[in-house]
Amino acid sequence: RFITLEGGEGAGKSTQARLLADALRARGLDVVQTREPGGSQGAEDIRALLVTGEPGRWDPMTEALLHYAARRDHVRRVIAPALKAGRWVICDRFADSTMAYQGYGHRMGRESIRRLDTLVLNRFRPDLTLILDLPVEEGLARAGRRAEAPGDAGEDRYERMDDGFHARMRAGFHTIAEREPERCALVSAAEDVEAVHAAVLAVVAGRLPL
Ligand code: C5P
Repeated sequence: RFITLEGGEGAGKSTQARLLADALRARGLDVVQTREPGGSQGAEDIRALLVTGEPGRWDPMTEALLHYAARRDHVRRVIAPALKAGRWVICDRFADSTMAYQGYGHRMGRESIRRLDTLVLNRFRPDLTLILDLPVEEGLARAGRRAEAPGDAGEDRYERMDDGFHARMRAGFHTIAEREPERCALVSAAEDVEAVHAAVLAVVAGRLPL
């Protein structure tokens, strides 16, 4: 089974991915936890191109192509082999992030990203996608606090963007959830970590046979 966690800045995806992976392992499942951009050696190399340098270094299309190049390597080398071996894969971000960030946030449009996705991944989809939903201001405040913490590499360049980018992205995630209700579940990320984890686990248990 392939589960992805999605959402904007500061939604708590990484924390929830780790808690979900631990909870599934506690039930005896063989779980691979991974992330995007990255997750394979080649994709991590591409990640370094994406998260360093000036904001706006890449135009949105180039950025989308880099994300999809990384994703293709990640799927071929890590995700698909794990699924084939019967393992569970939990991924922090996947294709919906490209739709939300580049498609909606940067206004490339749904159709461009959809065509790219069809070309590169042949519409390979997660079995379940949890979209962690948080008001933009709250997410940016949380991400801002994290950036001040020691050990944060300051990779979250998007935290500084405004002009409605984050609002378009959040609305984009809502649209994704509405278009594919069978695959996607919107989970409020406004509660504390344990409460969000309980909500995530309830959705997983309700939708996938554990
Ligand atoms: O999830 P994480 O914070 O590790 O993402 C790394 C960076 O890549 C963030 O700045 C995120 O906003 C950005 N990103 C992006 N487009 C995507 C996915 C992530 O710009 N499709």
